[in-house]
Amino acid sequence: MNKKPIYVTQPFLPPLEEFIPSLQAIWDSKVLTNGGPFHQQLEKALCEYLGVEHLSLFTNATIALVTALQALEVEGEVITTPYSFVATAHSLLWNKLKPVFVDIEPDTLNLDPARIEAAITPQTTAILPVHCYGYPCDVTAIRKIAETHKLKVLYDAAHAFGVNFQGQSLLNQGDLSVLSFHATKVFNTFEGGAIISPDLATKQKIDRLKNFGYVNEVTVESAGLNGKMSEIHAAFGLLQLKHIDEARQQRRLVDAHYRRALAPVKGIKILPLIEGQETSYSYFPLRVRKDYPTSRDELYQKLKDAGIFSRRYFYPLISDLTPYRNMPSSDPSLLPVAHQAAEEILCLPIYPGLSAAQIEEIVQLISG
Ligand SMILES: *Cc1c(COP(=O)(O)O)cnc(C)c1O
Repeated sequence: MNKKPIYVTQPFLPPLEEFIPSLQAIWDSKVLTNGGPFHQQLEKALCEYLGVEHLSLFTNATIALVTALQALEVEGEVITTPYSFVATAHSLLWNKLKPVFVDIEPDTLNLDPARIEAAITPQTTAILPVHCYGYPCDVTAIRKIAETHKLKVLYDAAHAFGVNFQGQSLLNQGDLSVLSFHATKVFNTFEGGAIISPDLATKQKIDRLKNFGYVNEVTVESAGLNGKMSEIHAAFGLLQLKHIDEARQQRRLVDAHYRRALAPVKGIKILPLIEGQETSYSYFPLRVRKDYPTSRDELYQKLKDAGIFSRRYFYPLISDLTPYRNMPSSDPSLLPVAHQAAEEILCLPIYPGLSAAQIEEIVQLISG
């Protein structure tokens, strides 16, 4: 095969020459990290772009999740979804918290609020939902449950860059939200992440926690870790932000093309868009149902043999992975919707620059 492989995603890189002046500025100033000028500018620019008040940049979303749980002083048990990337649950184990997995809704594949209350015990202190593929969780129902039971809500919003909900940023929901700027995400800083805070005092607490707990030169108030984003990453983020609207528009077009072309294919069910609700178009998930001619894994292999690398996000479920599988809430009989989704899901390539011809090639392989 001499054609180039098509991966599930491809990082969006602005022209290199546009980055050179920032590199020169960093070389001239010799400020490499510790909240330098690019870091400050990116925090401000992201607040404006996303429509949020307070944002703290991080070295990656996993460290941001670990830190957010510390900032909220979460203890004991935390209700979360098995249908996510492992980092969601890992952030709990790193804080010695107990994940309690609750099943998901079939349409959005997000934590099912109707099942949350049954999982609450006297040890429960928080809920950690994920806006899976950028589809908003049922934030209203989750807020009500949290208020009734006095629980904190931390949203893993790694897929929800730029998503608005009822006229404002989805990232303003819950006590805190965490974004990922990993290379595979819609907006990337190579590696990176952020926590969105509702007020300045919380942001300042988080900023201390990501800098070893330093309050000032001689005072350390807690065992904070090092979660700081470097100047090079922040400078790249600022450049990336200049091109983000164009990149998001291209993703939207890829999504629309797939939806149109795959709608008639028997046995393929595309996750429905919610009327009037944008997603981040970060993934293009479809479900390979029983009435499709082959199994999901056979389709995955067929695409792979043709040089097209789709991904089974999220398979296996977190609750089936070694650190989690023996927990009582990991029992598959308690998570039927999540298990079915993990068996059926396939995420197709989606990124700015994926051509109409490439999309058609993928559609042909799935249809034929
Ligand atoms: C990517 C991702 C993370 C981890 O992000 P990093 O920046 O790579 O640490 C966490 N949660 C979800 C849902 C993700 O998709």
